[in-house]
Amino acid sequence: MSSISERIDRILEVLPKRRWYRALTPFERLVSTILSQNTSREATIKGFKKLKERFAITPEVLAEASVEEIKACIKPSGLYNTKAPRIREVARIILDEYGGDLDNLIRLPLDMARERLLRIPGVGFKTADVFLSVVCRRESFPVDTHISRIAKRWKMVRGNAGYEEIRLAFEAVIPRGKRRRDHLSLIEFGREICRARGPRCETCPVYGECEWEGKSRSKGESYRFLTKSS
Ligand code: SF4
Repeated sequence: MSSISERIDRILEVLPKRRWYRALTPFERLVSTILSQNTSREATIKGFKKLKERFAITPEVLAEASVEEIKACIKPSGLYNTKAPRIREVARIILDEYGGDLDNLIRLPLDMARERLLRIPGVGFKTADVFLSVVCRRESFPVDTHISRIAKRWKMVRGNAGYEEIRLAFEAVIPRGKRRRDHLSLIEFGREICRARGPRCETCPVYGECEWEGKSRSKGESYRFLTKSS
């Protein structure tokens, strides 16, 4: 049986090539990561664009911005009553503690940078790891709903495993240097093939190695096997 890393290599061969992220500044990416909490990519982009139309997305500008105005801009991204004050607070912290330059945080050793990010209100494990991995190209492995589902279907972790258990399980088997690429590939794999409902097992490149009891080559059949842990 192939390793998890080899399995992901095969998945990469069948996924369409995508431009994974846009050329944003580190602070813009951090704001966009906060906007993406509990919402879709499309809703994140809508809120981000409206915010950018109204404000320069810099710590200096957003630290002084009215929360009500931020709320009005980011409404399409949902949870705006929580996210707007959070964005302003993050801007103030970056300004006060890092002189307005996120690079001062990014350059810290990985564990320290992660720990500093987790101290910021509203920045949880996932936000910190997405920021470190996608923006800073560091070796953390963020866990989202797709990654969590795949880890459980592949029996890498227990059915009730939490964020840190899943992150550490992937970090243990994916070598440094491949984590960012593999993280993005698995998210795409979860969106397109190993979907929560109606996984497309009939087209899955790693069907033979998948340990999920609900998998099925018959189109649509795996619906019937969906379990809580999926
Ligand atoms: S066989 Fe089905 S459940 Fe298993 S990894 Fe592939 S798509 Fe996911």
